[in-house]
Order: sequence, then C-alpha cells, then structure tokens
Amino acid sequence: MVKAKILVVEDERVVALSIQNRLESLGYIVTANVTSAEAAIAGISQNPPDLVLMDIRLKGKIDGIEAAAQMRQQFQLPVVYLTAYNDEETLERAKLTEPYGYLLKPFESKDLATTIEVALYKHKMEQQLREREQWLATTLKSIGDAVITTDPQQAITFMNPVAEALTKWTQQDALGQDLNQIFLTINETTREAIPNPVTVSLQTGKTVTIENHTLLIDKEGEEIPIDDSAAPIKNDSEQILGAVLVFHDVIEQQQIQALLKRTNADLEQRVAESTAQLRQQNQQLEAEIARRQQLEEELRVALARERELSQLKSRIVATVSHEYRTPLTTILSSTEMLQRYSDRLTPEKKQTHFQRVKQSVEHLTNLVNDMIFIEQAETQALEFNPTLVNVEELVGEVIEAVRPKFTEKHRLNLICPSECDRVLDGNLLRLILDNLLSNAIKYSPEGGLIEVELTPQAQEIRLRISDEGIGIPPDDQGKLFKAFYRASNIGITPGVGLGLVIVKECVELHQGRVEFESKVGAGTTFTIILPVAESVEG
Ligand code: ADP
Repeated sequence: MVKAKILVVEDERVVALSIQNRLESLGYIVTANVTSAEAAIAGISQNPPDLVLMDIRLKGKIDGIEAAAQMRQQFQLPVVYLTAYNDEETLERAKLTEPYGYLLKPFESKDLATTIEVALYKHKMEQQLREREQWLATTLKSIGDAVITTDPQQAITFMNPVAEALTKWTQQDALGQDLNQIFLTINETTREAIPNPVTVSLQTGKTVTIENHTLLIDKEGEEIPIDDSAAPIKNDSEQILGAVLVFHDVIEQQQIQALLKRTNADLEQRVAESTAQLRQQNQQLEAEIARRQQLEEELRVALARERELSQLKSRIVATVSHEYRTPLTTILSSTEMLQRYSDRLTPEKKQTHFQRVKQSVEHLTNLVNDMIFIEQAETQALEFNPTLVNVEELVGEVIEAVRPKFTEKHRLNLICPSECDRVLDGNLLRLILDNLLSNAIKYSPEGGLIEVELTPQAQEIRLRISDEGIGIPPDDQGKLFKAFYRASNIGITPGVGLGLVIVKECVELHQGRVEFESKVGAGTTFTIILPVAESVEG
C-alpha cells in the first residue's frame, strides 16, 4: 500500500513534532512540518502532499482557513483542520473552505488516523467525480450533434457548441431558460408548431423521435431542417432528473439526397438514351440483315431461274430437233414421192401424200405459234382484251374444232346449265379450252368419257374438263406447268410440253387459277376458275 504524504502546518513546535511522530508511527510520510501558511504554500510545488493538516490559528499574515482556501483552489488539496477552538464563528469560516475533516485538540491517534483516511477517501472520490464530469463535458462538447440538457422543469442546464451554433443561442444566455423559448420547431409542410419532444419525453419517461420534415427556428428567425430525438435522464431508481435533446441539421443530408436523386435521374436518362441508341442500331442491323437476306434470296432465285433457263434451253433443243425433224422428214419424203413417181401414183395415193405434207406443215405452224406465245408471255407482251363472250357458244365452237381428234371409243358429255354471257378474253379462253380438251383426248387413247362442265357463278366462272385416261404420276404433278415438261408415262403420245404453260398464262391474264386432280390409270380433271368482270370497262 502506498503511504499517504501529509503536510503539517502547526505553529507550536512541540505540538507539531508530536503530530509528526504520531503520523509516522501510523505509517504516513510527513512531507514537511511548517509553522506558517506562507511556508506551507511555498513548499507545496516542490514536494506535493496528499493531504494537509492545518492549524487554524497561525502566526503570520494569513491564518489556516485562508491558507486552506488557497491550497484547495490552487492545488485541489484536501485540508483537515486542527484547532483547539470550536467557537461558532471559526467553524462557520472553516466550513466555507469545504474542509475534509476537523480535529479538536487534543485528539487521539486513532481519531487522527480515521479523520485522515476518511478525508483521503472523500478527496479521491471527489477527484474521480470531477474527472468524470470533465470527461462527460468534453465528450458532449466535441460530438458532432447538437445536445441540450434540461432539468425536469425543462430549464436548460447545458448546451454544447453545436447546439449553440444551430440555435444561435449561447449557453451562457440559455442556461436556466425554458427550453420552449430556445428550441422552437415547426412542420416543414403544414408550418404548424411541433410539440417540444422534451415535454413528451419528460411526461412519458420514454425516448421521443423528432418527426421528419421538422424545421428549427433559430434565434434570428432562420429555419434549419433538423432530425433527431429527446430522451429522459433517469437515476438508478428511475427517477427523472431531466432530459437530453439531441439533434442535427439535415441540410447536407437533404442536399445529398437531392444530388442522389438528380444523379439517379441523370443516370436513368443516360441508360434510356443508350438503350434507344442500341435499339436503333439493332433495328438498323436487323434491316441490314433482312436486306442481305433478301439479296441472297434474289440471288438464289436468279440462279435457280438461270439453271431453269439452261435446262429449258436443252429441252428446247431436244424437242425442237425432234419435233421439227419428224414433220420435215414427212414433208421431204412425201414431196419426193410426188415428184419422182407422180405418173405412177394413183390419185388416192397422191392425196394421202398431199394430206401428210399439209398436216406436217400445220403441226410445224402450231409449234411455231406455241413458241411465239410462250416468248410473248415471257416478255410480258401478251394482251388481255376482255369482251362480252357467250361462253356456252364458245365452248361449242372449240368442241367442233377438236372433233376430228375424237375416235369412236371416246364419248363426250357437255354440261352447261343455261345461256351464259360473261366478260372475258374470248381468244385466251379458246386457247385454254383447246389445249385442255386436246390433252383429254390425246391422253385417253383407250377412249372413255370426256366431260366438259361449265358452272357460271356471280363472281366467277368454272370450267371442268375430265377424262378417263392415263393420269399423271404423283412425282410429275408439281412440274407440269414448266415449259417442255412431259410426264414419265406418256409413251409415244405426240406433244412438246407447251400446252399447260399456255393454259396457265391465259388463266393468269384473267387473274384466275388452275386446279387439277389426277390418278394414274383412272383419269384427270382440270378445273379453271376465272373471275369475271361486271362489264367490258371493268
Ligand atoms: P403436251 O401434251 O404437248 O406434252 P402439255 O403442256 O399439254 O404438253 O402437257 C404437259 C404434260 O402433262 C403432258 O406431257 C402430260 O404428261 C401431262 N398431261 C396433260 N394433260 C393430261 C391429261 N389430260 N391426262 C394425262 N396427262 C396429261
């Protein structure tokens, strides 16, 4: 245990030495034993004691009470008085210096020890309390929030510098004032006064948070947005000793929020702009891709067409060489026979040869006409000339024209409901009927029923031509309308593969369509659907 150091101030030497002896025998260290207050004060700095034993009556200019007051003020030293006097006046004076003990001479050693120990303990406690107070005050002064404390009646007991700055009140002016005079708040939106949170806190004994959108009105009438809370100050037995109000201005917070909002909006706009830009670039890209795809498609079509044309050319060469050679050979041989053996040939034989030449020329002429038609169709030089046509009559005429091609094995059935006049191109219709009817006869070598049915309707006219002939194999059906194409089952049936192309062109000039159904060995039905105009002008 550290021994306490005691300064003895006693003007009577004998008494002083006795005290010193007693102190030392009790285990204390006597730092000095002086007879005057002045000597005591002068020696303190060199050898500071923990306690001063002070005689009240001293020789010299100042007595013990005054010396004690100085020591307490300057050095915060605890003083215990030693005196032989206990009169009222001396005691009253001594009390003012807040002594830590009072020993009446003569005293026992144990009283001396007890008084010294109590004084030292009390001094230690006071020192700790002072330090804590100092620590608390410094903390409250240095925190960034404004702090105001009040007593239970809301009289201000403390204000830190931040609270001073925000309210524009100095602590000095505010101390003791009612908080409601210093801390005035209103609602930012309604502009109505907000009840003081300290009042509520003191009433309820609970922490109260200041509402959002609170404006503090400072001493100069300026408004500051603030935020925070009030809490009651309670002792250990829950007794309310006052309240503490903590607040801070939210200007910066509001500015940051506003900045954040602006930044956010700015960001959103930039994102929207970039998205729009990206979308536009995307659209451009898509358009470019579509354009390239279209070009590719066009190229593919052109290549296919090129291939088709080249195949067509080969087929033309093959067909023409074959189709031309046969009638030309016939013409050559018949004319030679007529020239060489004219006088030996019977008139019937001569007629046969003339007939052969005529048919061959007709065949070649038809071939040339068909090819010219196809060429005109290719170059879009064909004309569409609608007139009012008696369809029934026209069908009759075509039947008559192809009648020589019928054999006894063929039967013809014409189904035509009534007279029917329609606006159509008669020449094109004649070509359609001629080709389809000729095919029906040609591709039914075993004969059978050939039926021509005419179905006039308000908006269109349907022509159905069916036979019971060889039919068309399914594999060939998709290619029938290509020039010079002929199905695989035709055998030696004459033809060049242009008839259906001509039919298709004629139908398309009418903006109509061709349909067909066919079964090998059972027969074929072609149906032409032609929309009809109301009048010649239409
Ligand atoms: P062509 O009769 O000169 O060969 P088309 O263009 O008129 O040429 O006919 C094309 C092909 O369609 C014919 O070669 C034939 O294979 C098939 N075809 C057309 N009509 C019929 C039909 N009524 N019955 C069977 N096959 C037909």
